[in-house]
Amino acid sequence: MNLILLGPPGAGKGTQAVRIAERKNLLHLSSGDILREERKAKTELGLQAQDYMDRGALVPDDLILAMMMSHIEKAGAYAGFLLDGFPRTVAQAEGLDDLLKSKKTPLEHVVKIDVPRDALLDRLTGRLYCPKCGRTYHTKFSPPKEPGVCDNSGEPLIRRADDTVEVVSERLEIYERQTAPVVDHYERQGLVRTVSGVGNINQISERIIEACRE
Ligand code: ADP
Ligand code: ADP
Repeated sequence: MNLILLGPPGAGKGTQAVRIAERKNLLHLSSGDILREERKAKTELGLQAQDYMDRGALVPDDLILAMMMSHIEKAGAYAGFLLDGFPRTVAQAEGLDDLLKSKKTPLEHVVKIDVPRDALLDRLTGRLYCPKCGRTYHTKFSPPKEPGVCDNSGEPLIRRADDTVEVVSERLEIYERQTAPVVDHYERQGLVRTVSGVGNINQISERIIEACRE
């Protein structure tokens, strides 16, 4: 099964992707996590990406496409891939279409997670992130068992520098301008299923799995 989770920043893509990838043995590829790894390792790509990320702007399509292509190549060892945070522009979606066509690997599902804007702001400004394993928590809505420590890796949790009110507002605007058209792109291919991202995290996982059965 090859699947994309679409939705604005804070919709719960990362939270759901980790769970669904585990259940379905999919390679989970989060473009944001991969970029943060590149930054931590101070690679050329990491250095090129950092200013865009800190401003909440999108990293240029050519850099993202080359980065994601090399990771998608590794999906052969899994039952498929689950993309989270990519594609974020129509040019990225077209690049992905070309790659999948050449590899004769069809995309089967695009699940769009809907959450009202006010809830997105509350979620992002309370988000806690594990820099080691990429898991996300929330100070109120999804706290770790021990405050400030990742349940999975035991590492200290951090707040992302781009989760301030100012940068979040910019990212939400960019989503509307540049990423919302990606939904239309996949609508034209008849692939989009929309689920509500409001409610209990386990229930939302079930909604996504159900949407992939249709
Ligand atoms: P995205 O990857 O779409 O940006 P995340 O998965 O990082 O979103 O979730 C954003 C924040 O919202 C995190 O702090 C996460 O713990 C929290 N969150 C995720 N799902 C829910 C939910 N169903 N209800 C409340 N908070 C949630
Ligand atoms: P969120 O899920 O909260 O929106 P991500 O972790 O997916 O955040 O992305 C963080 C930042 O990384 C984005 O604001 C952007 O600068 C960069 N980024 C991630 N994925 C992409 C992408 N597909 N195209 C361009 N930039 C990206």
